[in-house]
Amino acid sequence: MALVVQKYGGSSVADANSVKRVAKRIAEAKRAGNDVVVVVSAMGDTTDELLDLAAQITPLPPQRELDILLTAGERISMSLLAMAITNLGVKAKSFTGQQAGVITDAVHGRARIVDVVPSRIRETIEKGQVAIVAGFQGVNTDTNDVTTLGRGGSDTTAVAIAAGLGADVCEIYTDVDGVFTADPRIVPTARKIDRVTYEEMLELAASGAKVLALRSVEYARRYAVPVHVRSSFSHATGTLVTGTYGNPIDPNAPAGDPGTDKEAAVEAPIISGVAHDRSEAKITVVGVPDVPGMAARIFEVVAAAGANIDMIVQNVSAAHTGLTDISFTLPEGDGPVTMAALKAVQGEIRYESLQFDDQIGKLSLIGAGMKSHPGVSAKLFAALRDAGINIEMISTSEIRISVVTRADSLDDAVRAVHSAFGLDSTEGEAVVYAGTGR
Ligand code: ADP
Ligand code: ASP
Ligand code: MG
Repeated sequence: MALVVQKYGGSSVADANSVKRVAKRIAEAKRAGNDVVVVVSAMGDTTDELLDLAAQITPLPPQRELDILLTAGERISMSLLAMAITNLGVKAKSFTGQQAGVITDAVHGRARIVDVVPSRIRETIEKGQVAIVAGFQGVNTDTNDVTTLGRGGSDTTAVAIAAGLGADVCEIYTDVDGVFTADPRIVPTARKIDRVTYEEMLELAASGAKVLALRSVEYARRYAVPVHVRSSFSHATGTLVTGTYGNPIDPNAPAGDPGTDKEAAVEAPIISGVAHDRSEAKITVVGVPDVPGMAARIFEVVAAAGANIDMIVQNVSAAHTGLTDISFTLPEGDGPVTMAALKAVQGEIRYESLQFDDQIGKLSLIGAGMKSHPGVSAKLFAALRDAGINIEMISTSEIRISVVTRADSLDDAVRAVHSAFGLDSTEGEAVVYAGTGR
């Protein structure tokens, strides 16, 4: 008998029939003899619709109220799911994040889980019942206020509950068959990845592959929670995310750390996949005096504005003017405050002007094997050249190369790079079962 945490995303519980379908699946897992804890997201695009609603009331809703509003989405799905499971003759009880013991810091809108005290969940399991937990939410014990974990946060709730309970596996049920070599909505020939390490998954998630929220992967790595990403619309085996290329669920499968184990390293692919991100914007500070301390001053101002910067490029200064341009990318939502903060110091820094560009896209090629393979960047740039796509910024790490392009050429860029690295599947097209991609 295993203890299984199952998380169902919004597209898996989009309407009443989907809730009933998912309930059947949960009841089956329970009847098969497992202890089952379920984490559920808001139905369909509920969270986006609630955000739209708030935007119709006020352009800048108070963060505390916004969090209370958004957590309502998961309350709807958790209670309906508990009803549907009970209807099937299996006892089930739903809990808000607060009731489930998900304790967070006090940062509204992107709270971090600081502790999980799942005593009510344990009691429920011990009674032989299924516990349903509302994803994406928690409570701060200093303010006693409800918080949300940031978009996609139900994944993090699921992994945190799995870690807190010492579950055997955390199953993330979604609308595709697992983690693919690229988003199947953009690249129909994307290939399902059977196994991926936490490190590679971290890079994929950080680079925009929203199939798993970044923080859920960080959490899974820290507490060594095996994560199985799979579809709620099929019974196909999905993608195992673990610390090694081995399989902790199947003891007969080979195990090993690709970092230290030569046999496991042979299994490591050179490239794991191509991720894309449309959520960033670019700010350019034009005509900055090229003297020591300017970059430090600019990024002090940017940091004080609370923006998380990603890529940075500084041009070679023109000899006759002694001026240079500094460009950086940041989450689009951080744009307005950052622009305002930089404008306020124009007199002090004496730059010429500021530009804001939200029509950019970022493509990232990820693979733990690329560090030992020269020529990966050259091949990436050649693929983009052959597709007629201009590169605006570049950044690299040991296991990732990212480039910024125009937003409207991003899809073509992803497809070109995916093909150039031989990632296209020969076994037919990837299935996208549901969801709006919103
Ligand atoms: P859920 O509602 O189940 O949380 P999400 O929409 O958050 O689902 O995540 C699933 C979606 O992630 C897929 O429908 C797919 O479009 C997108 N996605 C992006 N990159 C990848 C990838 N590399 N592999 C699989 N899916 C991806
Ligand atoms: N409902 C939340 C969102 O849409 C959390 C989640 O689905 O994981 O971001
Ligand atoms: Mg999600």
